[in-house]
Amino acid sequence: MMNNLTNVPIVAKFGGTSLADYSAMSRCADIIINCPKSKVVVVSASSGVTNLLVELSTGKLNGPQRTVAISDIRAIQQKIIDNLALSDQVIESISHLLAQLSDLSAAIALKPSAKLTDKLLSFGERLSSTLFTQVLIGKGASAVYFDVRDVLRTDSHFGKAQPQVGAINQLVSERLTPLLADNIVVTQGFIGADPSGATTTLGRGGSDYSAALLGEALGAEQINIWTDVSGIFTTDPRITDQARAIEEISFNEAAEMATFGAKVLHPSTLVPAMRKNIPVFVGSTLNPQAGGTIVRNQTNTQPVYRAIALRRHQTLVTVTSMDMLHAPGFLARVFTLLAKHNLSVDLVTTSEISIALTIDSTGSESGGRAILTPELLAELRDVGQVTIEEELALVALIGNKIDSSYGIGTRLFGALSDVNVRLICHGASQHNLCFLVDDNVASDVVNRLHQQMFSLNSEGQA
Ligand code: ASP
Ligand code: MG
Repeated sequence: MMNNLTNVPIVAKFGGTSLADYSAMSRCADIIINCPKSKVVVVSASSGVTNLLVELSTGKLNGPQRTVAISDIRAIQQKIIDNLALSDQVIESISHLLAQLSDLSAAIALKPSAKLTDKLLSFGERLSSTLFTQVLIGKGASAVYFDVRDVLRTDSHFGKAQPQVGAINQLVSERLTPLLADNIVVTQGFIGADPSGATTTLGRGGSDYSAALLGEALGAEQINIWTDVSGIFTTDPRITDQARAIEEISFNEAAEMATFGAKVLHPSTLVPAMRKNIPVFVGSTLNPQAGGTIVRNQTNTQPVYRAIALRRHQTLVTVTSMDMLHAPGFLARVFTLLAKHNLSVDLVTTSEISIALTIDSTGSESGGRAILTPELLAELRDVGQVTIEEELALVALIGNKIDSSYGIGTRLFGALSDVNVRLICHGASQHNLCFLVDDNVASDVVNRLHQQMFSLNSEGQA
């Protein structure tokens, strides 16, 4: 019976909070056992572990501080182990991982490097996957541990490695697919290996992306992202208690949401899923029966308003040049400079003599300002007068046919009549309308807009 199921497995990924302790892991194991097609399980590190590893990787902790961090990591594992009847061999392999981790953090304290950091960060997922395999086995499942570095080939860009999809597809079919005939395979998210075998990572939160890459390589029926919220919400529930889970959303809409700040999925996750047209489900391990959100190519509904995303810490750069009145090449000069400095632009509006834009600051905690280097600003000043405005927030209204919907202006500006909307982008995409407001009014703006756009019916249709 297993053989025909293995042709189209489901890949299930569990996030850190779902693996925080034994009872959380046990809930995840039940989800896998209750869904026999879930043959590939991708795990994050238990919650808190990657943050501790990041601290260790800075090389800034002294000996006693390192000891504290490592014993915190050990304690998280130990609490799980206490609930399991493990063989000596498994206990030995966990002690071995912890000993290696301790040696490596001492080495990093002497000489930090991006390469050693990735190696260090990999221990979180290696520990959690070792233990989760045992939780499944403890419940009678036939589960095997699999080192994802055998198949998840990346380049050598430590800290944010790019997957090499062709190699991954081939390695998965040679090394992983054969295991599925008789086993549930438990493996690590977030980590990979470059062609020389050095451990790499895909960037924080990258386990979702790993699951999607493996799903793509396996031709999976579905990629299930299990987390601690029951799906993708109409907006951040911390902003308004009116926010609710969206039943279904298209790849395009969800990609816009991820780009514009919704934190549920790692922004690259949908790329492999879209390439192979594999639906992605997002649900909560705390309440698996509650359902969640399905992200797929075609949705049954195409409401004009599906969700509102908010991204804070935006920096608006305006370049103005009187010389450019009717002169060609102004925009080209600005964009050439940005490209030269490796910056990608998010929002743009232009007039005859000026251009206003926000810089994509994904991954920069302090937002756009930090990545505007003095060199870039000096070169931009050769093109024209440069103004920088900070502490702005980007609000993105996401949905369908937004570019050709009547009445959107009235609803939007009606709700925001007393707010200074600093910039608006509308018309390039049928899936979003974005604008900038002062950061300190952003939550209120989202709240009011949500009230205005989503209080009418469950899918936000007017
Ligand atoms: N453990 C990694 C992190 O915390 C990857 C992940 O959880 O997706 O960033
Ligand atoms: Mg995550």
